[in-house]
Amino acid sequence: MGIAVTGNVGSDKLIISAALTGSWPTKARNPAVPITEEEIAAAALECRQAGAAIVHIHVRNDQGRVTCDPARYARVRALVEAHGSDLIVNMSTGGGAGQTTDEQRMGPVGLSPEIASFDCGSLNFGPTVFVNSPSFLDELAARMQRHGVLPEIECFEPGHVANALRLIEEDKLKPPFWFQFVLGVRGGAPGTVKQLVHLIDMLPPAAIWSVCGIGRAQLPLGVTAIAMGGHVRTGLEDNLYYRKGELVTSNAQLVARLVRIAGELGRPVATPAEARAILGLQPRPAAT
Ligand code: ZN
Repeated sequence: MGIAVTGNVGSDKLIISAALTGSWPTKARNPAVPITEEEIAAAALECRQAGAAIVHIHVRNDQGRVTCDPARYARVRALVEAHGSDLIVNMSTGGGAGQTTDEQRMGPVGLSPEIASFDCGSLNFGPTVFVNSPSFLDELAARMQRHGVLPEIECFEPGHVANALRLIEEDKLKPPFWFQFVLGVRGGAPGTVKQLVHLIDMLPPAAIWSVCGIGRAQLPLGVTAIAMGGHVRTGLEDNLYYRKGELVTSNAQLVARLVRIAGELGRPVATPAEARAILGLQPRPAAT
């Protein structure tokens, strides 16, 4: 057992999630953002090579805009599996604030992905409002359970952890509890170490946590999580720059940097099989 943090199960092995596309980034802002299913699957495979165990995916329509079309989600997963990859595919249920209905957002859950995002509360999100009402969360939790999906409990601020604790108390979320702190969204908690520590302090016993910092918070929060025994998400969904003034050239570039840093900090990177064991997911056949 490595570094443990109060209220958290520490792990030597580091789970790296790569959030490849998101709902909003465009090729106009960074040409490396994968948009088509083929591009997303290719980016996923590169990230696996670089050290990611999980890819968190969104899909886009032919105009490059956010959609929740289950057929497109299924195609990305099928392309990844067609290469014999053992990657864990985490499908977003985030949709696009104001662009997609609650029902559309739940579409990918019917595909029984191993993990799907569970945005555990509402918040201002840039210029709009990202609505995750209590009734939506109840329904999403029920459907995920029915389809054998592990919810990735995304918390953008401390109130979202409080929502999760309530859902746990009501037995609507069941262990294992896999939390993703999303910090630095305009409208959510700032991307600071102080916020991260506070959120970790709120976690229920035996929770497993990861953090993604948005924009310039991505690297410092990622490194902090590695040092604290947590897990980390990176990728172009959250940040388009490798460093100030220099665009990221691929999702894998960001994964590779974390792998190097984790090596220095004594956190070997979890394979997908090891990540499944940590997260209580069913084992899958080894990659060919
Ligand atoms: Zn996402």
